[in-house]
Amino acid sequence: MAAVQRLLRTAASGGAASVARRRMTALAPEQTPLAAAFPFAVAERSRRRTAGERNVQWVFLGCPGVGKGTYASRLSRLLGVPHIATGDLVRDELASSGPLAVQLAEIVNQGKLVSDEIIINLLSKRLKKGEEQGESGFILDGFPRTVKQAEILDGVTDIDMVVNLKLREDVLVEKCLGRRICSQCGKNFNLACIDVKGENGLPPIYMAPLLPPNNCMSKLITRADDTEEVVRNRLQIYNDMSQPVEGFYQKQGKLLEFDLPGGIPESWPKLLRILNLEDQEEMKLATA
Ligand code: ADP
Repeated sequence: MAAVQRLLRTAASGGAASVARRRMTALAPEQTPLAAAFPFAVAERSRRRTAGERNVQWVFLGCPGVGKGTYASRLSRLLGVPHIATGDLVRDELASSGPLAVQLAEIVNQGKLVSDEIIINLLSKRLKKGEEQGESGFILDGFPRTVKQAEILDGVTDIDMVVNLKLREDVLVEKCLGRRICSQCGKNFNLACIDVKGENGLPPIYMAPLLPPNNCMSKLITRADDTEEVVRNRLQIYNDMSQPVEGFYQKQGKLLEFDLPGGIPESWPKLLRILNLEDQEEMKLATA
């Protein structure tokens, strides 16, 4: 444990990748930094089995642009658990111009995956910080993205449920290209108006743009990896590297498939119904 804490401190002060690589080859998944940072790590695993005894530990899967961040953050507010998006952790690291930033920029801007070691170190630091602040439970978005990451996660904690959001590929590309972020408040918006006719057995789909308020309008930026070429590359990498993660959880009986029927007004109530959370939303609205 103390050795892992030292490793986390080393990660924070700089030499993360090489140290992590050396240590992780020698350590079993249960001894990795992730194990140390998980609030419900191995030692407590057996006594916190069901979601009734602790806050939820969910994972959101889905292709780039499908809306993992949108629905995971809504659910995190509803359930009072942190929404932890590894893509955000990577972007924070990029913006910090720390020692990893140059290395990460090259990988991320080509749409490639960051190494498991780096991503696990970023996630471990985030979980440890949350634990110190009394956070409990989580909704993970963008992790795990490889079967190896899923196996490591499995070695350190119990995931209750995995929601797999699905949308047709032509719509995913349009949504990524329409995505904008306010450089000041950090909120996500989407300028694309998706209006696709039903054909070849696929239903029609309409998604209204998610427009920013006036004060954000002049501060909108586009993610460097949201160009058409990079989006198509990310989709290919998702199919090759991340789709097998769906099978990993399907075999465990934890995968909940959710085909998005449209934009937030149609999809959110349907998702709540499938998750059996309609009452929770009503209670929250009633007490707001
Ligand atoms: P997307 O819109 O493609 O789902 P994210 O915001 O989740 O994008 O992630 C942005 C980038 O951060 C990814 O393209 C990848 O380079 C990196 N990244 C995020 N999560 C992971 C992960 N679990 N493993 C490896 N790389 C990751």
